[in-house]
Amino acid sequence: MNSLTSQVLVLNRLWQPVNICGVKRAIGLLFVGHAQVVNTDPEAGFETHDASSWMTLSGAYSGDDVLHSVSHQIRIPSIIVLNHYDRLPKQDIKFCRQTVLERDKFTCQYCGKRFENHDLNLDHVIPRQKGGETSWENVVCSCIRCNTRKANKLPAQANMHLLSEPKKPRWRPFFSHSSVQRIAHSSWKHFIEMPPGEVSLSS
Ligand SMILES: [Zn+2]
Repeated sequence: MNSLTSQVLVLNRLWQPVNICGVKRAIGLLFVGHAQVVNTDPEAGFETHDASSWMTLSGAYSGDDVLHSVSHQIRIPSIIVLNHYDRLPKQDIKFCRQTVLERDKFTCQYCGKRFENHDLNLDHVIPRQKGGETSWENVVCSCIRCNTRKANKLPAQANMHLLSEPKKPRWRPFFSHSSVQRIAHSSWKHFIEMPPGEVSLSS
């Protein structure tokens, strides 16, 4: 992987993931004192480093994920933590197949089992033929078996019950975006919950 195109996970002051940024931006934040590097070396556990301690550590580092200047090398961080920012990003959530699956945690809302993305359907609780809308309140994640069993009936007519009442989620955490899943670094898994079948880790 080209070092300058690496992605850095940004945590807020409470260690919640809030963003992803490029290497240059991450190192800039480190050097102006707005962020610290979170080092996740297996032997060291989690350690935070400010610019000077990260430079010291980088000097002794022998991996190839480094940036070089004339006299120094700096190891490319995979995670930084902001020193001041403690909010979470809020984004309005768009209704689509993926966001419904995420809301329902890839769990069939009738039988309660968790499935891979491709083994799930969207089910209209009140069937479209009976005037049911395609909306957050009327669409749930369903396995193919339950979806077939329910067919064009109301849940009660099919003797099936929803696990929970479907609602619009308040906001979508940035880290569930599929674009984030694709570039996720293995060290991020401590901070990001990834849906099954979507996990793509590179280290
Ligand atoms: Zn099911």
